Amino acid sequence: MMEQKMGLEIHCQVTGTKSKLFCKCRCDYRGKAPNANTCPTCLGLPGTLPLLNQKAVEFAGMTSIALGCKVPDEIAFYRKNYFYPDLPKNFQLTQYNAYDITSIGVEGGLEYGDGKSVRIRRVQLEEDPGRLVYDGGNMETSVYALIDYNRAGVPLVEIVTEPDFVDPKEIRLFLDKITSIVEHLGLCGTKLEGSVRCDANVSVGGGKRVEIKNVGSFADVEKAVRYEITRQKTMTSRDLEVRSETRHWDDARKVTKESRTKEEEQDYRYFPEPDIPTVVLGSEFVSSAQRSMPELPDARKVRFVKHGLSAHVAQVLINNKELADFFESAIKFYSSPKEIANWIVTDLMSFVDERQKEQERSMFAGLKVGPEHIADLAKLVDQDTINRATAKQILGLIVRPGEMPSQVAHKTHAGKIDDVSELAQTIDSVFETEHAAVQDATLNPNAINFLLGKVMQATKGRADPKAALEMIQKKLKEV
Ligand SMILES: [Zn+2]
Repeated sequence: MMEQKMGLEIHCQVTGTKSKLFCKCRCDYRGKAPNANTCPTCLGLPGTLPLLNQKAVEFAGMTSIALGCKVPDEIAFYRKNYFYPDLPKNFQLTQYNAYDITSIGVEGGLEYGDGKSVRIRRVQLEEDPGRLVYDGGNMETSVYALIDYNRAGVPLVEIVTEPDFVDPKEIRLFLDKITSIVEHLGLCGTKLEGSVRCDANVSVGGGKRVEIKNVGSFADVEKAVRYEITRQKTMTSRDLEVRSETRHWDDARKVTKESRTKEEEQDYRYFPEPDIPTVVLGSEFVSSAQRSMPELPDARKVRFVKHGLSAHVAQVLINNKELADFFESAIKFYSSPKEIANWIVTDLMSFVDERQKEQERSMFAGLKVGPEHIADLAKLVDQDTINRATAKQILGLIVRPGEMPSQVAHKTHAGKIDDVSELAQTIDSVFETEHAAVQDATLNPNAINFLLGKVMQATKGRADPKAALEMIQKKLKEV
């Protein structure tokens, strides 16, 4: 039996907090000069003492609760020792389950996709290391490495799952859900470069476990895992031994590569951080976190369905917080949730550049359409001022200039023809040009549809089909 099992370790930067985990330096290092956001503490200078960021603990607590974890009354921090230039103290402050003290969340579980679930082993709070910058971005060919400690000490929430995934597709669905949850919590702006990272572990047929590190984006995790499954299956089929090892994801070649470093847990020599006493969260911590928690995607979906949306449309919206927020703003301008949601999900999305969703900017960047435009469009359709086909054309016209649909409809006379004489004229001219079809239609009622089609064509869809049909029938009797 060659069934595979996969687990994930997800790191989310707590971009929702302004300062680092153990000092007052700012977290917003992107675009800053190297080593601008540093102080003696995050540079690991002798004699400095860590000061724990309460806000980061609260965010980690909320994440644990959102993932159904148990949150203990007390938490502690541990030193994870290793020597690497990105770690100025030569240890990383993290959490560890030992001496009856656990990390901030354990034994949780999350449902995702259609009725799938995964167990969450633990949620922990730790600090991000610094960043190494290589010449040309290539570690192997660069003759030097530059170190930027701006990132050192930025709070990270790490989410560790049990190896419950059996299909790489499940991983993508699960990561979509995690993304939506941490966005809704305000924990992490997941579009910021490097703000979410994921390691995966893969074992095939009950064999050795291989860790894949360095996967730079959630989008690539599924690819990395697929590659690794194929590699391990191929090795097994050739009677080659799959070793327990850590492999790195090569983003350019889309393969996993053997990596030179391989640490075991005992190599890290975990020990309790003596400069941070045990943190007593207290019995009020969980209830207070629950009270201050924003609405989570699952609850939001239920609320959207109550607005009359289908489960599918509601899911598409909540999968992307920006889209869900757009929808909520639009229905404030004009309350027609079902109509508005459909315009967003089916029509507006077709104008969104797929690449935009992976980038740091808003997915609507480049488009000048806001919630008020979609609300206006839905209103025109709801009130029967324009038909759906015209509305689609108008959307195409306004997405970039950002004009109001009602103005465009007015300017282009796109409204439905409610002037009887205008419609009668059109029908007259169709009767004149379509002699044969008119003769046909007097004998065969089914042929009327052809004439109706011609009228709709001549009016560019602006005629009311029901009124036009009645007038055609009347006129046929006179022939
Ligand atoms: Zn600092």
